[in-house]
Amino acid sequence: MAITIRKAARLEKLPPYLFAEIDKKKREVAARGIDIISLGIGDPDLPTAPHIIKALQEAAAQPVNHRYPDYEGLFTFRQAATNWYKSRFNVTLDPEKEAVSLIGSKEGIAHIPLAFVNPGDVVLVPDPGYPVYNIGTIFSGGEPYFMPLRKENGFLPDLKAIPEAVAKRAALMWIGYPNNPTSAVAPKEFFAEVARFAEKHDIIVCHDNAYSEVYYEGKKTSSFLEVAGAKEVGVEFHSLSKTYNMTGWRIGFAVGNAALIDGLGKIKTNVDSGVFQAVQEAGIAALAGDQGVVEEMRRICQERRDILVRGLNAIGLACTPPQATFYVWAEVPKGYTSANLTSKILDDTGVVVTPGNGFGASGEGYIRFSLTVDTNRLREAVVRLQNLRL
Ligand SMILES: *Cc1c(COP(=O)(O)O)cnc(C)c1O
Repeated sequence: MAITIRKAARLEKLPPYLFAEIDKKKREVAARGIDIISLGIGDPDLPTAPHIIKALQEAAAQPVNHRYPDYEGLFTFRQAATNWYKSRFNVTLDPEKEAVSLIGSKEGIAHIPLAFVNPGDVVLVPDPGYPVYNIGTIFSGGEPYFMPLRKENGFLPDLKAIPEAVAKRAALMWIGYPNNPTSAVAPKEFFAEVARFAEKHDIIVCHDNAYSEVYYEGKKTSSFLEVAGAKEVGVEFHSLSKTYNMTGWRIGFAVGNAALIDGLGKIKTNVDSGVFQAVQEAGIAALAGDQGVVEEMRRICQERRDILVRGLNAIGLACTPPQATFYVWAEVPKGYTSANLTSKILDDTGVVVTPGNGFGASGEGYIRFSLTVDTNRLREAVVRLQNLRL
């Protein structure tokens, strides 16, 4: 006798998976024997550096690391993270109270609303945006209010357009620059405006800074925590995934306001038991070690960026070279939607891209290319795209 399995309302409330159609088409095209070039996913293809792997191997052999870790992370890991913040952003943080390790930043992003959002509270969510902001909101019982990111605004949310009544009910706000998917970077003045807005309306700011090190032409991006008042209102989520090609390792951290770090820690201590200490030791090797590997990652991404942007503009897919991130956010030409252009590109060329509307309604009219294949494959993709009849 089978029981009736009913999904909880929060699962029913999940947004539809908009990539199902494209996944299906990808299988069909591959079945026709066409060689697929995937520029769809945001997962670096480069390997993790040898000195980081070696640190894991050595730490994995130490019995002290075989026990449960502390949920907040090794003090030495938090210290490596806060020292790195000091040297990279000149932001001073207390490793004891203002930092917590995460099982990848996605884990912290998904969990923090459980600590600070009550059912019915509004959470301000960028649209288009990294899907976890919205999903974490739904899981906490919060109500997302989507802030459109428009080209004419440099893909920054227009805070003045948020109705007073919405701001009043808002508990938390998500921002993330350098931005996935639009690849926009935020000037410090924007971060300062966010801090003032948050203070005025009593809103927690969560800044996702996963792409801080994927910048181009030597133009370093800023941390939200650099601006006055930021630490009074917010936290920043940071990841080793994109900086050190460590997506599979699952390690990141959150830094900033002590009460917010404490609240997130309360959730974590009751849900997970932290990051395998050997992985934290590898994280220390990454953060405190030779940053030449990060320089090399930027050089490779920049070369790829230039190949793709030149190729896309030549065929009439308008895009400006991103100043950061490994994404190119291209406008869909007249007569197409994000979905049917994605589908046509895949059908005609075997190149997989991501439809912009998969990141939210305001992503309609765009497609996203990832720079996560080598230059030969990227050149091949550009050659194939030249045969596209738009
Ligand atoms: C990749 C990514 C993350 C998550 O990275 P983790 O591997 O979980 O640390 C967070 N935010 C954005 C915008 C990302 O693209």
